[in-house]
Amino acid sequence: MRSFRLALIFLTLFSVVGFSQSTSTAKPAPGFSLDTIDKSVDPCVDFYQYACGNWIKNSEIPPDQAQWVSFVELNERNRNVEKDILEKAAAGGKERNAIDQKIGDFYGSCMDEKTVDSKGIAALKPELDRIDAVKDKQALIDEIAHVHMVGPNPLFNFYSSSDLHNADQVIANIDQGGLTLPDRDYYLKDDEKMKGIRQHFVEYMDGVFVLAAAKPGESGAASGMDAMSSKDAETVLRIETAIAKAQMDRTARRDPKNRDHKMSRADAVALAPNFHLDRYFQDVNAPSFSELNVGNPDYFKQINALLETEFLESLKTYVRWHVLHAAAPWMSQPFVDANFKFQQVLTGQKEIQARWKRCVSLTDRQLGEALGQRYVDVTFGPESKARMLKMVDALEQSLDSDIHDLSWMSADTKKEAKVKLEAIRNKIGYPDVWRDYSSVTIKPGDLVGNLERTTEFESKREIAKIGKPLDRKEWGMTPPTVNAYYNPSYNEIVFPAGILQPPFFDPKLDDAVNFGGIGLVIGHELTHGFDDQGRKFDPHGNLHDWWSEEDGKEFEKRVSCVADEYSSFVAVDDVKLNGRLTLGENTADNGGARIALAALERLIAEDKTGKEGQTIDGYTPEQRFFLGFARVWCEKRRPEVARMRVLTDPHSPGKYRVDGVVQNMPEFQKAWSCKAGQPMVAENACHVW
Ligand SMILES: [Zn+2]
Repeated sequence: MRSFRLALIFLTLFSVVGFSQSTSTAKPAPGFSLDTIDKSVDPCVDFYQYACGNWIKNSEIPPDQAQWVSFVELNERNRNVEKDILEKAAAGGKERNAIDQKIGDFYGSCMDEKTVDSKGIAALKPELDRIDAVKDKQALIDEIAHVHMVGPNPLFNFYSSSDLHNADQVIANIDQGGLTLPDRDYYLKDDEKMKGIRQHFVEYMDGVFVLAAAKPGESGAASGMDAMSSKDAETVLRIETAIAKAQMDRTARRDPKNRDHKMSRADAVALAPNFHLDRYFQDVNAPSFSELNVGNPDYFKQINALLETEFLESLKTYVRWHVLHAAAPWMSQPFVDANFKFQQVLTGQKEIQARWKRCVSLTDRQLGEALGQRYVDVTFGPESKARMLKMVDALEQSLDSDIHDLSWMSADTKKEAKVKLEAIRNKIGYPDVWRDYSSVTIKPGDLVGNLERTTEFESKREIAKIGKPLDRKEWGMTPPTVNAYYNPSYNEIVFPAGILQPPFFDPKLDDAVNFGGIGLVIGHELTHGFDDQGRKFDPHGNLHDWWSEEDGKEFEKRVSCVADEYSSFVAVDDVKLNGRLTLGENTADNGGARIALAALERLIAEDKTGKEGQTIDGYTPEQRFFLGFARVWCEKRRPEVARMRVLTDPHSPGKYRVDGVVQNMPEFQKAWSCKAGQPMVAENACHVW
C-alpha cells in the first residue's frame, strides 16, 4: 500500500529501479573530480560527454545493477552504514532497546535463509488457503480487502491523501491499479520487444504456479501441475490486459485535474456495484466517511463489467498470483530465482544482489523510520542542517528575483507566485516526530509474517488518517534515501539526510561545485512548485488556479518548447523520449539550473574577499558550477532498463538532464565561450523559469 502513494503524488528528483543498488564496500564515496572530464571533447559540442567522458570510460555497471549513477553509488554507501547498524541490532544482547529489537529481528529473519528455505511454500499457505476458501464474488472482495491490508494491491488501490480541494483535510481515495508489469504499454503494445516480455511474463507465472502447487519433495512438473499452471498464467495475462486497457496512461495522469473526481460514497458504490465498496470499506476498517476521491471513474466502470464476465475461479487465480508474486523474493530459493529471472528480463541486471543488500533495503522499506533514526544518529550532524538551510534560503531568494524579472508574466500573477514561494516549507535530514512502531510484532524466523505485519501496520496507519486533519510533519521518504521531493499538497520541499553528501554536497569543496550539485537539487524541487503540474496548486496545497488566463497561456507556450525539445532526444536505439511525460522534471531541471547559478553569482558579487570568484584548477566558478552539475548525472544504463524508463520514468536520462538544460542557457554559452551554431547553443532556447 505504501510505495504507491509516493509515485502518484510526489515530484521527485530521481527514480529508483527495483532493489538495485550496490558496489564493493571498499570504494570511497563518489565525489567531484576533474578526472571524470574528457578533454578531447569540446564542451560546446557535447557538455555531458566532456564532463563525464572519462567517468563513462572508466566505470562499469556492476553485475548486480541495472544502471550506474551517483544516486545508486551513494545508495550503496548508505546501505553499508545501515548494514552495520542492522548487524549489531540483530546480534541481540541485553542493551538492545525497543527499536533495535524491531529492526534487528526483522533483518535477522530476512537473513535467516535456512529457515526461509525450509519453510518453502508453507510460509504462504495460510494466505493461499484463504483465497481457495472463497465461495462467491462478494467473499472475493472481502479477501481482496484482506490482501490489500497485508500485502499487494490486486484490482485497485485504496489509500488516504489530502483532499485536492482542501489540503488540510485527509480523505479516502480509490484508484486504478492491479498490474504486475511496470506499465499498461507492456500489455498493449504489439512490437517484438513487448511480445517477448509478455512471453517471459507467462513463463514466470507458469513457473511460480508450478512451484506453489508442488508438494514437499516433488517438482511441480512431476505432479502434473504444469498444464494447469499454464492455463492459470494465461488467465492472469487476460485479466491484467483488460485492466491495462481500462487504465488512464501515465502522461494523462500527470495532470491532477484528470485524477480529480470527488463524489459521495453512495455514488462511488453505485458507479461499480460489483466492487461491493461498502463491504470493502468495512472490511478494511475504514473510519466512516461520506465523500471520497475516485482517481479514474472510467476504470471502475470498465472493471465492474470484467468482474461480471470473469468466472470466480479466474479472479481467484488473479488474486493468488498477486500474493505469490509479492512474496516470491522473500520465499525459498526457487521462488527467489524465478522472480529474479523475470527482473532480469525487465532491467537487464546480470546477477542478483547479495542477500544482505536485499534485506537492508527491505528493512528500510518496512521499518524505515526505525532504521532511519539509527542512521541519522550515525551520519547526520546539526552543522549539515545549518549549511543546508542557508543554501535553501539562497535558492528561494534567487527564485524570487527570477519571478520578479520575468518578462512574460503579469504583475498580478507574479504577486500570487511570490505568495506561493514564500509559503513553501522545507524539511531537511529527518522527521521531527518519528513513526512509532511499538504496536508491530516482529518475530525471529518469520520473514513472511514480519512482512505481513509491517505492511498491515502501514495500511492501518494510512486508513486511520481518513477524516482527520493533515499531519504536515509526516515524511514520504526515509532518512537514508538518496533523493528529494516536492509535495504539491503540502507545498513543501524535502531533502533526506541520505542525499546530503558528495557528489551533491561536499563541505570540503568550493561553493561553485556545491551550487551545481545540491544547490541545483534545491532549485529543481522549488521549481516543481511552478511546473506544469505544480503550478495548478495554490500556496495551501489546493488544486486552485491562481493564474490569469493570459499568463497561463504564456506558460503553456513556454513549456511546449521544453516538451518539443526533449521529444527529439533518443533514449535507446530508435526510442525517443516522451517530452510530455518528462515535462515537469525537465522544467524543474532547467529552472533549477538557472536559479542555482543566479544564487552563486549573487554570492560571488557579495563576497568582498574575492574568494568566491576565484578560478580553481583552471576553471572559473561558473565552469565549476556546470561541472558539479554534470557530475551528478554521469550515468550508465543497461538497454533493457533504458527502454523501461522511457515508458515509466518522468525523469530524462542523465545525458539529457545535462545537455538538454545547458543548451537553453545563455549563461552556459558565456561560461564556456561557445559560439552560435554549436550544438550546446540552441537556436530556439526554451525558457520558462
Ligand atoms: Zn523532480
